[in-house]
Amino acid sequence: ETLVNRIAAGEVVERPASALKELIENALDAGADTIAVTLRQGGLDGIAVTDNGHGIAQGEIALALERHATSKLPDEAIEQVRTLGFRGEALPSIGSVSRLTLSSRQPGADGWRLICDNGAIAPLVPCAMPAGTRVEVDGLFARVPARRKFLRSARSEYAACLDIVRRLAMARNDVSFVLEHDGRRVLSLPGGQDREDRVAQIIDRELADNHVIVALEREGVSLAGVASLPTFHRGSADHQYLFVNGRPVRDRLLVGAVRGAYADFIARDRHPVLALFLALPVEEVDVNVHPAKTEVRFRDPAFVRGMIVSGLRRALDEAGM
Ligand code: ADP
Ligand code: MG
Repeated sequence: ETLVNRIAAGEVVERPASALKELIENALDAGADTIAVTLRQGGLDGIAVTDNGHGIAQGEIALALERHATSKLPDEAIEQVRTLGFRGEALPSIGSVSRLTLSSRQPGADGWRLICDNGAIAPLVPCAMPAGTRVEVDGLFARVPARRKFLRSARSEYAACLDIVRRLAMARNDVSFVLEHDGRRVLSLPGGQDREDRVAQIIDRELADNHVIVALEREGVSLAGVASLPTFHRGSADHQYLFVNGRPVRDRLLVGAVRGAYADFIARDRHPVLALFLALPVEEVDVNVHPAKTEVRFRDPAFVRGMIVSGLRRALDEAGM
């Protein structure tokens, strides 16, 4: 069992940022509207995610650490189920390669805590806490030297964690996010922000006064978002974000499409910043090709590229460019 978990762990969790992504997605799945993330040493020493979601019943806490025990029943659309990725594997995988503390309390019930120390699960103990769930992951891969050696410096692990929080927070501007790293508050995003405000606060506050709004519909596909005016650009394309059906994804198509749209206004070595949200019928896209990277495969990439170029061009045009 533990060996199987350790093998699975390498697939689901390869670094602090991938564990963090799973924990935040669980908090979102639990309906939380407030999520607090605390990291130590880029998440290498510790990751803690606290949410105010529906919590876990006493009798189900131990189950959450068992492989393939998911409480998420397939009564949702089949696509939503597919996007959950490795169902019921995240917590057991993480718990097999770290010291994982799972504390949870449902509203009106008592709180309970369970520790899984590198696969060894201790008995459930009562704990006092606000309603919701808190998952702490200490010393990820500390006892798995073969995997620990693939980890980078605390600084680059931190950068990857920050990127995950930024992407998930842009996708869910209705949810409040707080991020602390080594005792310092790095992000504090109020819930219920407009998408524009959320994106500007995450990427660059100056974007608030230097952006265009993107909105385009074509053949059942919609594109919305915020993009910088051509006067506002960066030396890298690091702050170009794409979301497909509400999920942050990475696709090379974006950089090329953006370059095409801005070609008349921006030098080739400069890059606008933007966040684009694409909504398309589920049969047009395959999100989550691999659970740990969020990749995407479009049935018709040329159409999507065309949408992005047209959406951006039109937005720039309307802004008098
Ligand atoms: P999955 O999310 O694919 O179901 P996980 O291993 O990520 O698998 O989580 C296992 C189970 O633990 C979930 O199905 C859910 O019931 C429970 N769980 C995990 N995190 C939370 C949370 N933050 N709030 C409520 N329940 C949670
Ligand atoms: Mg999960």
